[in-house]
Amino acid sequence: MSELMTYSGACHCGAVTFEADLAMTPLIACNCTHCYAKGFQLTFTTPDRFRLLTGEDKLRSYRFNREVIDHRFCEDCGVEAFAFGKNRDGSDSVAVNVRTLAGIEPNTLEPTVFDGRNLL
Ligand SMILES: [Zn+2]
Repeated sequence: MSELMTYSGACHCGAVTFEADLAMTPLIACNCTHCYAKGFQLTFTTPDRFRLLTGEDKLRSYRFNREVIDHRFCEDCGVEAFAFGKNRDGSDSVAVNVRTLAGIEPNTLEPTVFDGRNLL
């Protein structure tokens, strides 16, 4: 795993803010109907490396398919900055929408395409 860096993130309106310690690998662009519609580029971390700073009261949940992933989005601006789920071994995982992080130059990321449309 590459070295962890701490990033600040927020939804579009700024009500929901967080920090996360991220390696940025793997960086995934998934083509499942949900990720594709939202244009996600995702990386993953563990709950102890994720800190919600503000906006708990603004967060709503969206679940679909097997409903194992808790997609959290801001009720005001609609942006989903992160989601809580499980790894295959049952441990907790946090998926972070890299597009909501500060300090990343847009369109410089080179995510690995994940064929979620056929694999999930
Ligand atoms: Zn918002």
